[in-house]
Amino acid sequence: MFGYTGKIARIDLSSGKTKIEAFPEEWYRQYMGGRNIGLYFLLKELKPKIDPLSLNNKLIFSTSMLTGTPIPGSSRYSVVSKSPLTGGYGEAEAGGWFGPELKAAGFDALIIEGKAKVPVYLWIHNGQIEIKNAGLLWGKTTGDAQRMIRKELGDDRIRIAQIGPSGEKLIKYACIVNELVHVSGRCGLGAVMGAKNLRAIAVHGNQKVKLADSTKIKSLVKWFTQHYKDHPGCSVLHDLGTAKNVIPLDEVGMLPTENFRKGSFKHAARISGEEIKKSIRIKMSGCYACPVRCKPYVAAQEPFKVNPEYGGPEYETIGAFGSICGVGDAVAIAKAHEICNKYGLDTISTGLTIAFVMECFQQRLLKKEEVGFEVSFGDGDSMVKLTEMIAKREGIGDLLAEGMVEAAKKIDHDALKYAMQVKGQAFSAHEPRGKWGVALGYAVSPTGADHLQAAHDVWFTKKADKDRKRIPISLEDLAPLGIVDPVPVEYLGPEKVRLFMYLQFLWSLYNVLDLCIFVGVPEYSLFSLNDLVSMVRSVTGWQTSLWELLKAGERGITMARCFNVREGFGRGNDRLPERVFQPLGGGVLEGKSIDKEEFEQALTLYYEMMGWERKNGVPKKAKLHELGIGWIKL
Ligand code: SF4
Repeated sequence: MFGYTGKIARIDLSSGKTKIEAFPEEWYRQYMGGRNIGLYFLLKELKPKIDPLSLNNKLIFSTSMLTGTPIPGSSRYSVVSKSPLTGGYGEAEAGGWFGPELKAAGFDALIIEGKAKVPVYLWIHNGQIEIKNAGLLWGKTTGDAQRMIRKELGDDRIRIAQIGPSGEKLIKYACIVNELVHVSGRCGLGAVMGAKNLRAIAVHGNQKVKLADSTKIKSLVKWFTQHYKDHPGCSVLHDLGTAKNVIPLDEVGMLPTENFRKGSFKHAARISGEEIKKSIRIKMSGCYACPVRCKPYVAAQEPFKVNPEYGGPEYETIGAFGSICGVGDAVAIAKAHEICNKYGLDTISTGLTIAFVMECFQQRLLKKEEVGFEVSFGDGDSMVKLTEMIAKREGIGDLLAEGMVEAAKKIDHDALKYAMQVKGQAFSAHEPRGKWGVALGYAVSPTGADHLQAAHDVWFTKKADKDRKRIPISLEDLAPLGIVDPVPVEYLGPEKVRLFMYLQFLWSLYNVLDLCIFVGVPEYSLFSLNDLVSMVRSVTGWQTSLWELLKAGERGITMARCFNVREGFGRGNDRLPERVFQPLGGGVLEGKSIDKEEFEQALTLYYEMMGWERKNGVPKKAKLHELGIGWIKL
């Protein structure tokens, strides 16, 4: 079989037993990789309603046929489990080097079960799996733990995915970090790993991914390497990273500010990619096999000392700790980012939780005695202090570590309206009142408020210039999906729902293929839709098609919905906070809000287009059969 190792490792931490499982090529073709492989095992093996932090939960690390090939963007891997934050389907992806190294070590996926009696880490190398004592690592920062593991195993090339002290303390939005800077951030999967007493997974190997047509792959890689700098979106990404988005979003009134009350931030320039490049950035780096190198590393001495070993803040982190907390100090943001990577916390959830505290404080729902000090929007010192308190579960940090919804229940029944979240998952730094498709994405995402459900509406409101200089992403690139007409931003009618749904299939496909969204359509028009088909064909030798791949994307969304339905989720969980139906303050979109009735109609229409029950969004049996997953019992 090309593209895969053909081996999946099952590791039972309770008994210490490991098993290698093999599946036929047809199985791989049906589920392909990433989220779909993870969901297959969760739906087959997990009983509904289990405690996500009990030994009954499973944690799955999975890759695809593309992972570890020379294709730019093929660096990613998925982590899948039941989320302790949402109580539903949990998933997160990260780039870097861990995913390719896991395949080089001989495995397409790891299924981790049970709970170790004492802290352990896994050492996976060239087909071998060892469970090693991690007693000395427990309580250590991620940087120290990485150094200790590499020293113990005697090799600096070992790649490590690990939790930090926040995962050990079961913080509901603890993350998993690889190489200290690449983060599987959302859904609290670091807490699942902590609950299993599993501190880290170290991988190393020299197995190469077998390619069916290496000549074709070489030509795709060559084309990308020669052209990425000519692309208007990708060249800025190369120069500034995703922090490039700060100023453009502020200009169009969509830079979420002060807990989503405003769409423009007076200090946007101070926290922009341009400013970070000038003031604290020391270098750019990236992921395995990718020339784009969009990841910043920063260092600072004052007003906070920032350690460059933990990388630097990207757009989501800048939005979360910066404009959303009203903080216009790039060094304070960089410090909060460092703490998160050092302790293993999701920066988005942490920043939004702090913004929630700031608003509760302003509304007098929280007092100085409860927090320990005064808190206000714009105060970088208290923002950094609260980040550290959450990371260590100190003082009010212990309550906030349970997530915004649980914290709101204890603070005041009025506090929930200041929690910008869906299904318990905090909003990311994208203002839905300026792009209504993102509102639909936040609502229906199986993992809660997630801006990466589908490409954002603003790109599809007009046709591209002939030379594509002005619009780096264009409607024309979506023509193979049958989408040819522009659709307005403030609109949730049938054309928008159709556009959203097709794009959701495509973005789900990226998480099935574990491919970075920055290397192809629709995020940037470098690799075309047909190039995606060509990649999978050339790696596997399958005579695949865009149809087959999009169906794999759709299968992933519906499997995730099935998981949530089994947990008791329905239409009532596809809810947005009231704030998005109220007028936005500040910025060029001042006064804009989402029409609630139009949103409700769009939700019903989306369920129907997906082949789900219109009332509650339960996938119909016929749809499950159509997707080849009729075995799922609801
Ligand atoms: S575009 Fe950036 S995030 Fe994506 S693979 Fe390349 S370096 Fe990594």
